[in-house]
Amino acid sequence: MLDRLDQQPPDALLALIKLYNADPRGDKIDLGVGVYRTGQGETPVFGAIKAAERKLVEEQDTKAYLGPEGDMGFVHALMPHIFGPDATNNGRIEGMQTPGGTGAVRLAAALAKRAGVGRILMGTPSWPNHAQILADLGVEMAPFRHAAEDGTADLAGLKAALANAGEGDALLLHGCCHNPTGIDYSNEQWDEIAALLADSPVLPIVDLAYQGLGQGMEEDAYGARAVLAAVPEALIAYSCDKNFGLYRDRVGALYVQAREQSGLDAILSNGATLARAAWSMPPDHGAAAVRLVLRDSAMTEQWLDELDQMRTRIRQVRSKLAEAGVAGSVDLRPLGIQNGMFAMLPVSKEQVQKLREDHGIYMAGSGRINVAGLTLDNLPKFIAALADVTA
Ligand code: PMP
Repeated sequence: MLDRLDQQPPDALLALIKLYNADPRGDKIDLGVGVYRTGQGETPVFGAIKAAERKLVEEQDTKAYLGPEGDMGFVHALMPHIFGPDATNNGRIEGMQTPGGTGAVRLAAALAKRAGVGRILMGTPSWPNHAQILADLGVEMAPFRHAAEDGTADLAGLKAALANAGEGDALLLHGCCHNPTGIDYSNEQWDEIAALLADSPVLPIVDLAYQGLGQGMEEDAYGARAVLAAVPEALIAYSCDKNFGLYRDRVGALYVQAREQSGLDAILSNGATLARAAWSMPPDHGAAAVRLVLRDSAMTEQWLDELDQMRTRIRQVRSKLAEAGVAGSVDLRPLGIQNGMFAMLPVSKEQVQKLREDHGIYMAGSGRINVAGLTLDNLPKFIAALADVTA
């Protein structure tokens, strides 16, 4: 029976890692995998997290089960950072821990489906797993164009999609640092989107996986907060895996804004039953470490400092790319105003292959690069190679 299952294509980025590791060239560059890298090419554990983990080892006296909602101390400690001073919007926001942002997106979509959502509008290109999760859940995806030709967001595309949507539809938005394009809405555009959603029955789902990696913790929350202030109900899928460097520890949360505070319990009880059937409860360790960081002002400051350094380095690489202007046929200037780790270069599959084979530069076939894979040392080589293959 099991032999009826067809071979599935390998994950393209994981296959790329294998190729990269097997490449003997000393000056090879990895722009594929979506993790932050320092100027030395490393993805270290945050100092604040190391300190919290030491404390956790000392202080944790049981590993008995929590519940499907996970560590509620963690869930609550994050809220002021995401939602601002009135972290609950008058008691209307509550959350639960999930296995990473992936778990949060999955749970958001499953909850929306259970509430009657049959179709989710989504700007494309998007993080490939969005489409995969919706397909797996049997929720229809209605794509619209996210990126305009000039490297800014195609707001007209979103507006047209919303105008044709109604009851039973949801809209999935990237809160900041759009993956894969790096193209975010401006604050004015977020205000416009929030106003349109306020007058629409479409349910907003905001995926916030990179808060603090774009312009700053507060700045990157602008869109999510604008939407929440305008609409009665929304879902926020959050990841701590990038902004706390916890990737493999799988730290995330799903937050629900309900029409009334009294509606939260019923909604979250559905989240709990869905979680119970899928993963029972989320992994504890990373979320417990984040809770310890956020409950200690000195550790919080240390974390924010470390996050600042990450963002500053990403912005520095982006500025250098933008300063280079044009490399062959690729205009690098828009990268200076885009946000986060990712950017899409207008290169063909053949050019991506040439970059890999001729220059040892590894990137996704889609043209997505992780700008954090670039350093002041390897930038000139990258720009020259890009000019060479696109000339
Ligand atoms: N949403 C987006 C847009 C992402 O890019 C990612 C991670 N690459 C996630 C969600 C999920 O992150 P996590 O690793 O926490 O599951």
